[in-house]
Amino acid sequence: DTRHNILLYLEGVTKSFDGFKAINDLNLYIKEGELRCIIGPNGAGKTTMMDIITGKTQPDEGQVWLGSNINLLQMDEAEIANAGVGRKFQKPTVFECLSVWQNLELAMAGERSVWRVFRASLNGEQRDELNRVLLLIGLENHADLLAGNLSHGQKQWLEIGMLLMQKPKLLLVDEPVAGMTHQEMDRTAELLTSLAGDHSVVVVEHDMDFVRSIASKVSVLHQGHMLAEGSMSEVQSDPRVKEVYLGE
Ligand code: ADP
Repeated sequence: DTRHNILLYLEGVTKSFDGFKAINDLNLYIKEGELRCIIGPNGAGKTTMMDIITGKTQPDEGQVWLGSNINLLQMDEAEIANAGVGRKFQKPTVFECLSVWQNLELAMAGERSVWRVFRASLNGEQRDELNRVLLLIGLENHADLLAGNLSHGQKQWLEIGMLLMQKPKLLLVDEPVAGMTHQEMDRTAELLTSLAGDHSVVVVEHDMDFVRSIASKVSVLHQGHMLAEGSMSEVQSDPRVKEVYLGE
């Protein structure tokens, strides 16, 4: 069975808006622990694809599975998140008036009541988990800092940390380095690379230098269909890809 180590499986997915096929017979297979970058010009269908995976948009046709036994098309957005799909939108949405630690604490509690989160103290295991994530996102020296006082890059990492508190199997990350300094971009590449293995990570990104620095397999989406897949140098030398990006 070729599907045995595939975590995210999209096949024959199609979605039209007023007769226009934003997603057109799309196939995408992401392995367990894989880091994959998705690139493609504006309007290629990247956002619609992410919306379909997370249940925000229902496709007209096709299959969307998490592992071999979770049919994502039969679940709503909250159920898909609970099944282990975490999505990071482009803009960070941390709680600015809470500390870094409190943001992670809230994220760990998920849907449970805010009152209960801050009334009860964490047990040792939860504390260890929170410290592990703090270290991973490089904010171990800023646990007590208000999130509102973090740099733009640090906020993005905190939000990735908040997603990790939910122990997702699959992380969908939308343009993580928009507005970041070069140093922050390098750190983000390191972070996303370090998350692969334990998680499958799908990154939608416009910045080609960043995509190259991640050095993962790249999929090129064009007119709602996968145009090419391979290493960055492979897809960049593909004449069809060159044609699509000409004039960008
Ligand atoms: P990308 O994220 O790659 O820029 P999108 O998924 O946002 O691409 O859009 C793909 C195409 O689908 C675009 O032509 C866009 O105008 C169209 N589209 C996306 N969402 C809607 C919608 N809700 N209604 C109508 N058209 C849409």
